Amino acid sequence: MPGNNYELEDVTVKYKSDMNSESGSAPRDRGMYVSTSKAFILAFLAIAIAVGVGIIVHFAGPGSTFECKCTYPTSDSGSSSAAMQQCKDWAAAGQVEICSACPAATQTPCPSTASTSSPAPTQPPVSTTGATIVTTQAPSSTPKPTVKDVRIPLHMMPIKYTVELQVFMYAPLEPAEFYFNGSVVVSFECKNATDMIYLHSNKLNYTGSFDVKTENGLENLYSRHTFDLDRQFLIVHMTEKCAINKNYTLEIPHFRGPLAADLAGLYLSSYTRENKTIHIATSQMQPTDARKTFPCMDEPAIKAQFEVTLVRKSHMVSISNMPIISNASRADDWFADKFAVTPKMSTYLLAFIICDFNYTENTTENDVTYRAYARPDAVDQTPYSLETGVKILTFFEKYFNVTYPLPKQDMIAIPDFSAGAMENWGLITYRETAMLYQPGVSSAGNKQRVAVVVSHELAHQWFGNLVTPSWWDDLWLNEGFASYVEYMGVDHVHPDWKMFEQFVVEDLQDVFNFDGLISSHPVYVPVAHPDEINEIFDRISYAKGASIIRMMRFFLGDDNFQKGLTNYLRSLEYGAAFHDDLWYALGNRSDFNVKEVMDTWTLQMNYPTVMVSHSQTGQITLTQSRYLQDPKATDPGKYVSPFGYKWYIPFTYTTSSRQRFNVTSNDVKWLNKTGNSEVVNDTDILAPGVGWVLGNPMQYGYYRVNYDITNWNMLIQQLVTDHKVIHAINRAQIINDAWSLAQSGDLAMEVALQTTNYLDKEREYVPWAAASSQLSFVNSMLARHPLYGSFRKFMRNKTEDTFNELTMNNTNALHLDSYVRSAITDLACTYGIQECINEAKRLFRQWKNNPDDNPVDPGIKSTVYCTAVAEGTLDDWEFALARYRVENLAAEKSRLLSALACSRESWVLSRYLQMAIDQSSQSEIRRQDAVSVIVYISRNTIGRSLAWDLFRDKWDFFLNEHGRQLYAFTRLISGVTDWFNSPQKYQELQAFIASKNDLGSGARAFDQALEKTRSNIKWMVANVPVIQTWLQSQGF
Ligand SMILES: [Zn+2]
Repeated sequence: MPGNNYELEDVTVKYKSDMNSESGSAPRDRGMYVSTSKAFILAFLAIAIAVGVGIIVHFAGPGSTFECKCTYPTSDSGSSSAAMQQCKDWAAAGQVEICSACPAATQTPCPSTASTSSPAPTQPPVSTTGATIVTTQAPSSTPKPTVKDVRIPLHMMPIKYTVELQVFMYAPLEPAEFYFNGSVVVSFECKNATDMIYLHSNKLNYTGSFDVKTENGLENLYSRHTFDLDRQFLIVHMTEKCAINKNYTLEIPHFRGPLAADLAGLYLSSYTRENKTIHIATSQMQPTDARKTFPCMDEPAIKAQFEVTLVRKSHMVSISNMPIISNASRADDWFADKFAVTPKMSTYLLAFIICDFNYTENTTENDVTYRAYARPDAVDQTPYSLETGVKILTFFEKYFNVTYPLPKQDMIAIPDFSAGAMENWGLITYRETAMLYQPGVSSAGNKQRVAVVVSHELAHQWFGNLVTPSWWDDLWLNEGFASYVEYMGVDHVHPDWKMFEQFVVEDLQDVFNFDGLISSHPVYVPVAHPDEINEIFDRISYAKGASIIRMMRFFLGDDNFQKGLTNYLRSLEYGAAFHDDLWYALGNRSDFNVKEVMDTWTLQMNYPTVMVSHSQTGQITLTQSRYLQDPKATDPGKYVSPFGYKWYIPFTYTTSSRQRFNVTSNDVKWLNKTGNSEVVNDTDILAPGVGWVLGNPMQYGYYRVNYDITNWNMLIQQLVTDHKVIHAINRAQIINDAWSLAQSGDLAMEVALQTTNYLDKEREYVPWAAASSQLSFVNSMLARHPLYGSFRKFMRNKTEDTFNELTMNNTNALHLDSYVRSAITDLACTYGIQECINEAKRLFRQWKNNPDDNPVDPGIKSTVYCTAVAEGTLDDWEFALARYRVENLAAEKSRLLSALACSRESWVLSRYLQMAIDQSSQSEIRRQDAVSVIVYISRNTIGRSLAWDLFRDKWDFFLNEHGRQLYAFTRLISGVTDWFNSPQKYQELQAFIASKNDLGSGARAFDQALEKTRSNIKWMVANVPVIQTWLQSQGF
């Protein structure tokens, strides 16, 4: 599913929200990866065994899956964690010595004799003999779930589930009484002789007698069933052990679960139509809620086939992953729809929906039926997403060179939805704002959001659905890929949107913020408990994943990249993958040892800065170091870098005499992970002070670049004299790098400030997006500081010329022109340019006088609404609320929700906060939007303390409601703490965390909030005096 960092639809609000050397050579493939002596690990094993430490190595290696295991009492120390990682690396490369070093009997064979059959049993069994499983997780400073050994035993592997579900959500039942009934028959193959069948089950009640039989057997082997609630296991005990390789059938005749509006598993959603409330049932299984719908082995690598029957009332329709093949009427107006059997797939990709929606339909070149479902009142908003989906599905089929395997692809816009969308195979579910589009009412930002999410979810039909990560620790394989190739899909449909330029501000520079923290995490991250799994649906898995894949495409070259992907998808289709499988597939087609390079980007967190020293004509020297926003931050030791925070860096550059930005893989100068300096000799490099050098053209590389002060001054001078000489991406890069290096203390703040000198001439979107992001951070830090007045004047000055030239007339604007105008209008009104405020008020008044005829162009609506509410009366606020109530387009509703948070009256904001958390039947704000409202209010200088107080007061409520949801909790925590920049706030936050035992999925977000607050405090001390002096010197 897509991340929701840009859940807001308008670009203006989005950015407001956060406001080589000649001798260096590419690491060559040397066949098998054996770069480190095994002696250390073998010695470690000897010691570990002596002191009673266990080691288990398990996962899918290239072309096979295997597990080696030493069952000893375990410890959880940092050194065992490092050893474990090394073990995994060797085993992935096919090295078997590590297994033979284990003296104890292994439960499954080592690689040399491994099973290569699928489905892949890629995880260790929970031992039934008392030994536990080693995790690679070091102890955390914050409370964590107590149960970590949550992986399900794999003695019985499912082949096929036959599931029937019947939903009871009709009068006379009240919504609180809604429920569903179900039954399931599971056929299994016995892999290890066991008398227990493990299934996942959560919040389901069972009645009736279970039945276990062998194929064609008559005798019922069922003995009893028990529950392990901590691990969410239903354990069916049999009267005898199963026989290996024989098939068995388990029948569970009746279970029941509540149909609640909790956005997880099979859940309730509602909407109003002709003044009546209509209830629908829909589902969200990822990551661990299929088990809340029916008992199943709910892990991504445990694939099976599913034959689904949904039982509905006659006025409803049912939809699932496959087409309906038969339909039977039952007593009392019930109908049973039976769906075609699915291909082998993961449980988290199932989808079950019963609703009364309508649809529009089209067919792809390959005859895939494509439907777009929505509420009957909103089905006229589906043509754009349908048309875009059909084009992108066909594009991906051609690009990946793998045919879409299902007969149909449906998309559906759900009124209540937790994430942005979900890639269920053949039935993609969307939040309404991510799928519905209405020309003339939706903005360019809304349109791009729809195209991007459609493209992202379709990419998952291959990356994630056809080939699935073995376990959630490689979530980035799913999300990083989808987050990168989504740009390719949208670029195919809209080449004029410059999607690949937008990438650097949308993803790369955005995630640099998070990944510059010591509380970040490696892309590949060990997780076990569902709370930990929920936590990693974050910017690292999505945006860093996408950024390093983009870098890889650059240094491998397009052709190698594309063919490698086809190889990966074809060799592992309907199966599960470990990240080494991808390196293997890509490395096969190039000279690079892809694994050796990419391990430095996936197995350690953070990223490097390359220092380019330019001290003589014809030469530069390159040195890498780890970038940290706060270099003095104490490392909690949670993750140990296997490479000492050094990377293989594909460095590129251009010069003032060459001015060539379209670099290719042939231009790469590799910096080695040994970290030594590299000297580059090049006659195009002019003397220091005469010409400049610019590192990382097009910002293909995931690293920052720093220079000597003379070179910085030359670059700044170039921007002022003729900024177009430097590519728009690198203008954005210069701004982003300079400000971030100033934040970490690696560059003087005066230099960062000077990168804004030329902005009054800038007319392109990407550099403005980079600048507004940095300046909105300054705005947030200075909002209550005496210096704010001067900063405001400075910002007015920088924006004024552009604003006057562009004006607020966005009629018939091209896509990116509309983006620039949105961004500039937003800055102009925010920093008090009177013409902007007056025009916003005038347009809003005109609308108020004639509510059925909105005169505001969609591209500037966010700014106009927010400014009018901020500058207006209670009556204006009430008008915006009234429009919210009657609006039929979700994107417009969302904009109004955001504008309502712009009030400058504390009591109005308090009232709005109460509305957001109202759980009564009269509640006007959907649960899916509650967190957004609180985050909007936190961005308002007047509202932020109110939001923080409410968050603390209502902690139990937030933990219960959102604490175990994907994205929402992390977003809430960072939203209410983003502005903290004083020791007092730090102490408040620290004391608050210390007082809580259960942080839900928020443990990492709280660690990051503490670190950001420390960094903000330091920033204030170091930079406010510098900014003050500089602003004065500029006459502000
Ligand atoms: Zn996704």
